[in-house]
Amino acid sequence: MAITFIGIGSNLGERKRYIRLAIEKLSFLGKNLCYSHVYRTKPYGETDQPDFLNMVVKMETDLSPHSLLEHLLSIETELGRKRTKKWGPRTIDLDILFYDNLILTTPKLTIPHPDLQNRVFVLKPLMDIDPSFVHPTLGKTIAELWENLRTRDDQRQETKP
Ligand code: AMP
Repeated sequence: MAITFIGIGSNLGERKRYIRLAIEKLSFLGKNLCYSHVYRTKPYGETDQPDFLNMVVKMETDLSPHSLLEHLLSIETELGRKRTKKWGPRTIDLDILFYDNLILTTPKLTIPHPDLQNRVFVLKPLMDIDPSFVHPTLGKTIAELWENLRTRDDQRQETKP
């Protein structure tokens, strides 16, 4: 049994409904699910698109990382996601953020999810459910990563002309 954290995002159509449906489907892939709050976030990358709703679910699962990924991709397809452009709008986006302390880099799967330490919409929900979880490659807790990101953002604000 492994502990995994799944990032959920939606910015197209009935976003709350897609998130609810995704959670319902995730509940068949594991047990003891913990839910963060849902946050509204400005889109990353391609900015000319609706705001995102983001959250994180923590759960225990018997699935291997690759099998979990296959299930997540099927849920995305079932919920009507059409893969258009990389940063484009999506009904639902499901990412494996962590899987125990596993460090994995394959063409299909990178765990921990790359760049999560730079994303407010991932760290904030993670703060709700497990601030003491240690990022296996960075060796810092979620609380420390959150603090780093906030400090960095504050400095950026201060240096704005
Ligand atoms: P995206 O368009 O951002 O949803 O990317 C989806 C693709 O990213 C999937 O088809 C996966 O093969 C790949 N991927 C790599 N690492 C991960 C991860 N940790 N969680 C989910 N997808 C991943």
